Amino acid sequence: MLLIKNGRVLDPASRTDAALDLLLDGDRISKIGANLSEPGAELLDAKGLIVAPGFIDLHCHLREPGQEMSETIETGTRSAARGGFTAVCCMPNTHPVNDNASVTRGIVERAAASGAVRVWPIGAASIGSKGEALAEISAMKDAGIVAVSDDGKPVATARLMRQVMEYCDSLGLLVIDHCEDPSLFAGGAMREGAHSLRLGIPGIPAQTESICVGRDTEVAALTGARLHIAHMSTTASLEYVRAAKKKGLRVTCEVTPHHFTLTDEDVRYDSHYKMNPPLASREDRDALIAGLADGSVDAIATDHAPHHAASKDVEFDRAPFGVTGFETALALGLEQLVQTGRLSLMRLVELFTSGPARVLGMERKIAAGEFADLTIFSADREWTYRAADSPSKSRNTPFDGRKFRGAPMVTIVGGRIAFRREF
Ligand SMILES: [Zn+2]
Ligand SMILES: [Zn+2]
Repeated sequence: MLLIKNGRVLDPASRTDAALDLLLDGDRISKIGANLSEPGAELLDAKGLIVAPGFIDLHCHLREPGQEMSETIETGTRSAARGGFTAVCCMPNTHPVNDNASVTRGIVERAAASGAVRVWPIGAASIGSKGEALAEISAMKDAGIVAVSDDGKPVATARLMRQVMEYCDSLGLLVIDHCEDPSLFAGGAMREGAHSLRLGIPGIPAQTESICVGRDTEVAALTGARLHIAHMSTTASLEYVRAAKKKGLRVTCEVTPHHFTLTDEDVRYDSHYKMNPPLASREDRDALIAGLADGSVDAIATDHAPHHAASKDVEFDRAPFGVTGFETALALGLEQLVQTGRLSLMRLVELFTSGPARVLGMERKIAAGEFADLTIFSADREWTYRAADSPSKSRNTPFDGRKFRGAPMVTIVGGRIAFRREF
């Protein structure tokens, strides 16, 4: 048994914000109350810390199977635990693509054997994510997927999206789309605008994303099925999502920490600033923050996309898209959203816990009988992020060396301590 004492329990699901102790028994929470005592239980002193439900990341790339040079399920989930995440959803663009039950089972088995946190796989929508025929979605669901997506690319056509949504709706599965119009994307490497012109880097117009978000929300209206927009980065996309929600459609969206922190003005000839969707304009960044504050955005997701140094260490145009993200997500949220006064701490925690859980059709709360998945963090402890200390195999982050106030301290998965920060 583990007794967590002296912490401030913050649970958005029940709007709890109080000094409470928690007793964990095996993989469950057994008691919650003031001044608990339990002779013989191991003690965890959470004085000065916040005890939150376990964080869920709706969007990451663990690179296994097939790209183990960049990441494995073991190294990726250790990095996730260090970032306070207790469950991560991994995208299917591995080699081979997770488009059938045997790949899904392989991921589930590897995660059970070597994962530091829970791994919830996402299956491909189409075979090979090629945008032609439906993947084996039902068999993958039986093997453990929690959603489908052709991430890395959009679901190719409106017609295929309709099929995928209708099929997934009958299975109760969520469809997640990486929204991008490939014809507008056309070889771009950063957001199109004054800064791409100045740098001479081929531009990607903002409409590349929002055209596809518009298409998808229209197909969501046609089918009535659930739709989740991945890594949303533009004002126009947000307006489509708001309009869909207003109509009562089951449309949700996520925003990444790099998109609410950086803008195209931060881009330099350094591939650590190259991601897809690209860093957006200042106006877009501010609109996303407003959406995070007012409830239009449902979750913060990292899109942790590790690439080993050799592949990123090339000219900007040739480098792959993506940045790592687990270990800086909470600290960036505190820095950009809470310490600036834009969001309450409760709302930030919601965006990492009950928010993403609701997107998946689950619950996330602190209560007796629930799984003991908990994220214990400091909202004010000063520290410096050092990519070199990361258990991830990759170092492609623009935040190396950044000083933060607030950090994940202890990550508990199923009653077991998966990470504990030592200062
Ligand atoms: Zn994507
Ligand atoms: Zn992704």
